Amino acid sequence: MSELRIDLGRFQANVRAVAERVAPADLLLVVKDDAYGHGVERMVPAAVDAGARWLGAIDLSSASRAKAIAGDRARVFCWQTAGVDEIVAALDAELELGVGDADYLERVATIAAERREPALVHLKIDTGLHRNGVRREDWPEFVARAAELEDAGALRVAGIWSHIAEASDAEDDDARAVFDDAVAVARAAGLDPDVRHLAASAAGWHRAEFRCDLVRVGAFCYGIRSADGPEIPGIAPAATLVTEVVAVHDGGVELGIGWLDGLFSTLAGRMAVGTPAGPRALREIRETTAVADAWEGATVGDEVRVFGPGDAGESTATTIAEAIGTVGEEPLLRVSPLIPRVTV
Ligand SMILES: *Cc1c(COP(=O)(O)O)cnc(C)c1O
Repeated sequence: MSELRIDLGRFQANVRAVAERVAPADLLLVVKDDAYGHGVERMVPAAVDAGARWLGAIDLSSASRAKAIAGDRARVFCWQTAGVDEIVAALDAELELGVGDADYLERVATIAAERREPALVHLKIDTGLHRNGVRREDWPEFVARAAELEDAGALRVAGIWSHIAEASDAEDDDARAVFDDAVAVARAAGLDPDVRHLAASAAGWHRAEFRCDLVRVGAFCYGIRSADGPEIPGIAPAATLVTEVVAVHDGGVELGIGWLDGLFSTLAGRMAVGTPAGPRALREIRETTAVADAWEGATVGDEVRVFGPGDAGESTATTIAEAIGTVGEEPLLRVSPLIPRVTV
């Protein structure tokens, strides 16, 4: 049987290392996509116990489940709700909403006014990524309107935020200048946000001037280093994908995991698995099995690591991702939901 083993102690050590690194800014642990495939219900209690006071997700499902678990122990930010039903559900769940356009601001305010309870919103400025967010030329009018709605009791502006590419320092610096400007304009309009947030894992870790009040970190907390980025001291993968030997042939060992389980077929010949005898090349990936180079004494039932921290010579999720030109969390997000997750 294959399974995804999740080391909660390792995860908590990562959370603490990130929190310490970004202090005095706060850490917001990103739990989108079911906590990067690790499972919201498993990770949120561990994160809160490790000191995380902010959680966030793009999807309403992950965010509202996180809030149901964390209760008053954490503030939870949800940055993409859409229709009226979703706004109502998000407010029912006591989530704070990311708001990146004027129409959406009105919709949230109208619903909150009907409920007679101000919605907590985080206003998003587009700092160059053009992935949602209010454009600079529209920002003064947008924040003026938010201030009006705040005075009317429909909402409270809890945050101002943006997202950056983290691809080049120069572009990120330009984005930060736009962001700082936007915060100044918002303050001049009378807004007094609790938090400003801009950076994710890489900029939050490497560039102090990007930390503002809050850093939204997913990857590094799960121990996933950036593709083509350096190792991060004190951070190690929390998840290990394990499988077992199902058959031994001349020169090859068949493993009980294939592309139907979420292993990219393009990885054949480009990654190593961790076996009892150390790393072995993965030669072939089939529907439900894969073939690795043999080792002396290989036996049906032997445990083999597909990816993990590397203790048995296996690749990390990020190394695998680099081999096929994607981001470090992608191999984890691809693991089939049918593969059991097990806490260790
Ligand atoms: C996913 C995401 C993050 C976290 O990014 P990591 O690189 O995984 O730390 C932060 N902010 C936003 C808006 C995101 O979508």
